[in-house]
Amino acid sequence: MHRRGIRHLTFQGGEPLLHPAIELVISDARSAGMRVGLITNGWLLPQHVEPMANAGLGLLFVSIDSHSMDEHERNRGLPGLGARIREGLAGARRLGITTLASVAVNRLVDFERLPSLLLDLGFEGVNFSYPRRNEGSSPLAFGVENPLTDYSDAELVAVFEAIKAMKRRVPVVNPWAGVEEMERRVRGEDERFFCVGGYKYFCLDWNLDIWRCEAWPEPLGSVFDLDHIPDQRDPCRACMISCYRDGSVLMHAGIVMDDAATALANVKAGGAISRLFRRTFYISLAADAEQLWLIARLRRRPSRPSFPPLVPGSVKRRSPACIILVPDERGLVPVFGIPAVRRLVILARRANLAPLRLLGRVDLVRDVLGDLLCSDAFVQAGDGSDLGEGVRELGLAPGTKVVVIKANQVIDQTLADLVTGTLEQGPSRCIAEDKGAGDGLLYLSDVDELGPLLSALWLDGSAPPPVLSNAEPMRGSCGLPCTVDERGAKACERRLFASLASRVKSDDSFLSRHVNRHISRFVSKRIVHTPLTANHITLINGAIGLAGGFFLSLGGYWQGLIGALLFLLCVIMDGADGEVARLKLQESSFGQSLDYAVDNVVHVAVFAGIAIGLYRGTHNGLYLLALLLLLAGFGLCALVVYRHILKRTPDELKRSPLAIRLMATLLTNRDFAYLVLAFAVIGRLNWFLWATALGTYLFAAVLWLAAISDRSSSSHPA
Ligand code: SF4
Repeated sequence: MHRRGIRHLTFQGGEPLLHPAIELVISDARSAGMRVGLITNGWLLPQHVEPMANAGLGLLFVSIDSHSMDEHERNRGLPGLGARIREGLAGARRLGITTLASVAVNRLVDFERLPSLLLDLGFEGVNFSYPRRNEGSSPLAFGVENPLTDYSDAELVAVFEAIKAMKRRVPVVNPWAGVEEMERRVRGEDERFFCVGGYKYFCLDWNLDIWRCEAWPEPLGSVFDLDHIPDQRDPCRACMISCYRDGSVLMHAGIVMDDAATALANVKAGGAISRLFRRTFYISLAADAEQLWLIARLRRRPSRPSFPPLVPGSVKRRSPACIILVPDERGLVPVFGIPAVRRLVILARRANLAPLRLLGRVDLVRDVLGDLLCSDAFVQAGDGSDLGEGVRELGLAPGTKVVVIKANQVIDQTLADLVTGTLEQGPSRCIAEDKGAGDGLLYLSDVDELGPLLSALWLDGSAPPPVLSNAEPMRGSCGLPCTVDERGAKACERRLFASLASRVKSDDSFLSRHVNRHISRFVSKRIVHTPLTANHITLINGAIGLAGGFFLSLGGYWQGLIGALLFLLCVIMDGADGEVARLKLQESSFGQSLDYAVDNVVHVAVFAGIAIGLYRGTHNGLYLLALLLLLAGFGLCALVVYRHILKRTPDELKRSPLAIRLMATLLTNRDFAYLVLAFAVIGRLNWFLWATALGTYLFAAVLWLAAISDRSSSSHPA
């Protein structure tokens, strides 16, 4: 599915939480690079919400049938459902999952009173399913015979007006233009948007057959043939299924731009480009703008998958659980400004250790973890004498593999991932130790062995119990794991930094690896102890780059030299935000996007600065022409790169011809900042400007030809 370009997958039922391996399926989809949503009635939500969050769930819909919870429970036949939904939603929001009510339009709903119930339950927004009139199926949204959904045309128009009015009180996912499209349909007026079912939106059933939509009479084929199933682009407006029809309104602008980009990249003009100037394009753009709140919420989920991809036959596999033992307050010692125990919780989450529980004197650390864990993650076990009771309270199933770690120990992401991988595939017992401190991380294979191990760990200096005598040793890099104590965390911080420095990014260029990184790490080491966040550093760096562009635009030798030096400083320091983010555990997809955007704004400012500076110094209009050429070249490159690099998955890119891979590497390479400085030193920035202006066209042409030759060789296999 990912190969075909599918980036969002929503599980629906029946009741998907009845699936015995729902977390693994979510994790598998997430690992394949898709964002995952799920629609549930909420009955089993409290016990599933944390594992699903760890598995990578980003979007949660809970079905609501009425503005009255009593009515909803009666309609569902589930007394007590409201309390479970409330508890599950609280957990979901704490874990960063976006929560939406899924309301099928029906006569149990009073649209005036619905927002209060939704906001009180803790929903962030609501999505409406429109009543369906022409499909024979049993769910609430279907059926002309169902008295709850048997609306006259006039009543339906009133419902659509009520949905639009509700947008003032609660975020509604159905875009205004989508609701109006359905109103036009009901009134018998022309609809504006064709459905994307079978092109950008599919239905996958329990036989793994892929359908154009739920209402289509026959499947398109098996999902395993999705690569070869042609796009269904014949116009269809046969139904009112909201997810398809509203989705079509939202996706229209993107599809028009994609078609136009393809036409331009293939040197074709005509229909695809003219659609950019039609009214529907702008209505769709407005609908997208209306939904920016939802897009922003969906992007806040970490992109790390929780589990490795699902292996056939392994659906019963469980992720290792994690117990963080809290015998004293040493877990509060800050490491790069973050309490040691908080770092552990964040890393355990990222390494998919679930469930995650704190055991011991948990009141000591509750304040610094309250926003990360729900109350049942804290198991009080006073003075260490009642640890066995605490273990029973954890309720771990026999055979569960458990990672035990003390709250004052320090690990990094690499070690956390190594632990998970080792426990999932490797020996039944292993121990990771820091020989220097004599107080290591311990891992067990079975909950039955936990009691003696925890008791031995409670007191410092106790030798590991005999149960670990045959455990396989593991070692993290650079002296990790290590232990913080009352004297502070300096030694652990040094080891974390050394571990960071030992990792070389595979896409670092030669100069970046051998020059820039040394300087950026020197700076990172000093600023990591300040309150500056990684995003602050990105913005400061951007300001330095823009200052470089400004000096370049002044014209003159020394101004050009200062501008080039500032730009080089910006490029060198580009690694510092990532380094600080990793040390302070502040990595985020927003941070990545900000970094990418700032880099590109700085590039445009520097190139424009060079051209303007040369023009001011010489009053030669050719430099302004060079700037226009350059900007057009950038635009052309962006189109070709989007079409032939960004649309490929990382795997597809790896399998691409050398020329395409080389072009992809050049895109992230910023070593040209050294060239800018060299040309500034010899007073020949004009050479650089012309070479770059023409180089953009050469780049686009080479990439385009490589992509054409790749396409023709794959369509004519030997
Ligand atoms: S309009 Fe309805 S029937 Fe037609 S493709 Fe879309 S969802 Fe399917």
